[in-house]
Amino acid sequence: MAIERLVEPTLAEDNPEEKRIEISLRPTSFSEYIGQEHLKNNLKLAISAVKKRNDGSTLDHILLYGPPGLGKTTMAGVIAHELGASLRVTSGPAIERAGDLASILTNLKDGDILFIDEIHRLRRAVEEVLYSAMEDYKLDIVIGKGPAARSVRLDLPKFTVIGATTRTGSLAGPLRDRFGIIHRLEYYKEPEIEEIINRTAGILKTEIKPDATKLLATRSRLTPRIANRIFKRVRDFADVNGDGIIDRETATRSLELMEIDELGLDPADRNMLRLMYENYGDRPVGLTTIAALTGDEATTIEDFYEPYLLQLGLLARTPKGRVVTEKGRKHLQNRGNVI
Ligand code: ADP
Repeated sequence: MAIERLVEPTLAEDNPEEKRIEISLRPTSFSEYIGQEHLKNNLKLAISAVKKRNDGSTLDHILLYGPPGLGKTTMAGVIAHELGASLRVTSGPAIERAGDLASILTNLKDGDILFIDEIHRLRRAVEEVLYSAMEDYKLDIVIGKGPAARSVRLDLPKFTVIGATTRTGSLAGPLRDRFGIIHRLEYYKEPEIEEIINRTAGILKTEIKPDATKLLATRSRLTPRIANRIFKRVRDFADVNGDGIIDRETATRSLELMEIDELGLDPADRNMLRLMYENYGDRPVGLTTIAALTGDEATTIEDFYEPYLLQLGLLARTPKGRVVTEKGRKHLQNRGNVI
């Protein structure tokens, strides 16, 4: 049976209980937001400057990029909270027509924050409307059709866009240029992930032993969302098979059940590396070929599998495609996935 992937971004969304827990775990202020110190310092400064000026000026548009689950959406909420601003959340694929964007923009108020997740997936026509709106807070719309059509310019409130993307490369240049603050979110350090796990345990009122926290932190792909997901599974396991306390033994058994290995890879990651290695050895493989081998979308591979495998050095990117590295091959071998 294929396990549901812990790295998938939308896993929790259809389950109301999961959603409730997810919301309760989300940090709302800078002091609760663990790690990403460089980003936090820059943003604190920008926010203090806006507050100090107090002349109606707004925060620069902000672009946050990096692999999924590192806290981009969470940070948008923190910024809104710290500014005392309202947050409106949408996403690139959700805004289908320029008219949809126009109605979102005209409903904003001065100082509001518009968070656009997956901003690289905005349609071109929508994108063009957005960047003129970001530039001078004006909206150019065409009313009517044919010879009677005329263009009107509407004033918009002074809002701030926070865009999130897994890749800046796919963002059109003019849109990118409208962001005053562009920042990459980094993978977390292990002690930070431990802190996140302990915080989650506290909120969910679960006891976890320090060596179990350490173990879970090494398996969480240095990503808060995955740390929280693994924690919740281990907690269920401890409730069913023990007294609810998470110790190293429970954590180990539960991770085995989830087939998450010592590097945090799940069966889908190992399967991809194995298929690449079995079919191509140490030769480069194109992204579409990898997608055909695993049956995934190329974008899924690029966004969810690849960044962490690259970070670990199990996979390398060359101009001709991706290759399984010597380290990758050894890992598969140790796990008995290849001979
Ligand atoms: P992204 O938008 O980058 O995909 P999210 O903001 O949705 O990531 O973060 C995923 C989850 O991880 C959040 O629900 C939150 O509970 C947790 N999280 C993210 N960043 C942090 C952090 N710095 N400190 C604590 N928890 C975090």
